[in-house]
Amino acid sequence: MNTQQIRELSSSFEIGGHTIHHGALTQMKEEEAWREIADSKSWLEDTIGRSCRMFCPPMGAFSRPPLEMIRRASFIGPRTVELGSLDLPRGRAGLALMPTTVQAYPHGLAAFARNAIKRRTFANLWRFVAFGRTTDWPELARRLLHQALDSGGVFHLWGHSWELDEADQWTRLDEVLQMMREIAGNAPSLENGQSRSCC
Ligand SMILES: [Zn+2]
Repeated sequence: MNTQQIRELSSSFEIGGHTIHHGALTQMKEEEAWREIADSKSWLEDTIGRSCRMFCPPMGAFSRPPLEMIRRASFIGPRTVELGSLDLPRGRAGLALMPTTVQAYPHGLAAFARNAIKRRTFANLWRFVAFGRTTDWPELARRLLHQALDSGGVFHLWGHSWELDEADQWTRLDEVLQMMREIAGNAPSLENGQSRSCC
């Protein structure tokens, strides 16, 4: 996308920071990690002319030093790459850590177990077994969305555009967004940057 397209997108869609070069922050020296975090915020804000409040660490890789840098750069929170969470944002290091529910990508079964073990998010694995029980991500999205509607929680869909291209998933994303639109009257819908209001 060129800067004009990014500006247009930002008029109807929240855009968050995701570093400049998409490298794992935990593998960088502190100064380099700081530049990736702070520069992505200033570049975006200069480009779109509005505040950029949320950040996502590439590959979901963060630890204590990057978290402190994310806060120092005046982001209000990072979002994770969890699979299966319906949790509200969690307070950590002065930030609102935003869990995620479904990735728009055709993962195999092992990916759900790996994701939960790596992040010690075993409640997500339990939720997948109890309510998800499918690796077909649009169907998983439908089941977990209805679980959130029935029992409460936050449903958060995420994905990468290049992965949608490679795995030919744009039509399926359309189906899921249509489903989400149909239930939008029954549940509040928030931008990521509004997450402070619910935690
Ligand atoms: Zn990414």
